Amino acid sequence: MTQMEAARKGIVTEQMRKVAEDECVDVEWLLEQVASGRVAIPCNKIHMPEPIGIGEGLRTKVNANIGTSPLHSNLDEELAKLEMCIRYGADTVMDLSTGGDLDEIRIEILRRWRKPLGTVPIYQVAKELLMERKPISAMEKEHLFEVIERQARQGVDFMTVHCGITKHALELFKRSRRIGGIVSRGGSLLAMWMVANNSENPLYEHFDRLLEIASRYDVTLSLGDGMRPGALADAGDSVQWYETSVLGELTLRAWEANVQVMIEGPGHVPMHHVEAHVKMMKALCHGAPIYLLGPLTCDVAAGYDHIAAAIGGAIAASAGADFLCYVTPAEHLRLPTPEDVRVGIIASRIAAHSADIAKGVKGALRWDEQMSRARKELDWKRMYELAMDGDRAMEYRSDMRDADKGVCSMCGQFCAVAASSAVERILIEGAKGDAISDIPAECPLIQ
Ligand code: SF4
Repeated sequence: MTQMEAARKGIVTEQMRKVAEDECVDVEWLLEQVASGRVAIPCNKIHMPEPIGIGEGLRTKVNANIGTSPLHSNLDEELAKLEMCIRYGADTVMDLSTGGDLDEIRIEILRRWRKPLGTVPIYQVAKELLMERKPISAMEKEHLFEVIERQARQGVDFMTVHCGITKHALELFKRSRRIGGIVSRGGSLLAMWMVANNSENPLYEHFDRLLEIASRYDVTLSLGDGMRPGALADAGDSVQWYETSVLGELTLRAWEANVQVMIEGPGHVPMHHVEAHVKMMKALCHGAPIYLLGPLTCDVAAGYDHIAAAIGGAIAASAGADFLCYVTPAEHLRLPTPEDVRVGIIASRIAAHSADIAKGVKGALRWDEQMSRARKELDWKRMYELAMDGDRAMEYRSDMRDADKGVCSMCGQFCAVAASSAVERILIEGAKGDAISDIPAECPLIQ
């Protein structure tokens, strides 16, 4: 039974109970959300990860992509990136490897990563064809479904499948005059196969077969946006919305088969259109969880695309997006390093958390209140504990004398926090004016 089928039968699974507990929500309410498809709990029956709920009414989740490429493949480096995902709080990881022994890499990641793992199966098909010196156009449909099933059997919890690139989508693309073209790697592989073979997308044509595999293992289908805009100028064109409307139709078919679904979205979108994009996606896809790559709000932030994505992600999540795929500073430039992964995760978590405060997610603001109190008390140790990246906060302060107490080098004896405490002691507690002289004594810089 999939999580969705259980929910529809009124059965509260162990996973639903854990998600409800983690999110401080009523478990009966969560059961309704899972039954309706508005929340997905990616949880392959073989992997059985720590359950994570993704969807309306829950905390915005963050995914980190790791994985090798044909030009750079080192398992130890990928495992170092995975360590970053664990340490800096990614909710899910996608293994997007396309270089080296993909099964070995995935099995190693599945052994160490206890939360949901996602993949894009067509990457493995392309890689295996490359090993035989064959182009993607030589792909056999059987090979594609064999890889999907193989990955499901290994325990993959969610898979990106670009089912919405139909022949009609390619017809629209031909007439679209896009600047960025097709920027989805999986989408471009499928499009190449379709054009070379003059055939319909096998993932669309044989969607029921995909559903049968997904249902057997309870793999959540992340319906990919192979036609997502990869340039601001392309955002919101007919190709994008046609594909999204196909994904909406497929969502209903998946739900009929009790298969959980998430909908992937752009890409690059001008800031003032982000909210409308999210609302349109939710409407076309019947309230299914929305999973966005960014969106980047400008095309010119190379080297800083994690910031462009965090701006778009914060707006998108506050408008209803449920799941943000991180973007690292290396985006558009090269494969990320472990340090890029760390920075990307934190940027995306900042976006997600800021949105959660705006959305009124239960308990979101309490974390910030705790930090503000620690700041007020100049309690540095507590600040490191509460910071999203406490290691970085500590690094910044490490060159200070008495780094765990006193004020900091920003204002020294003019520390507003210390001054405000003195003012409050005088105003509220009725201390004498000489309470102000306490300030320098608390400042290690001037001792
Ligand atoms: S010295 Fe300035 S920056 Fe540092 S804690 Fe005090 S008010 Fe904040």
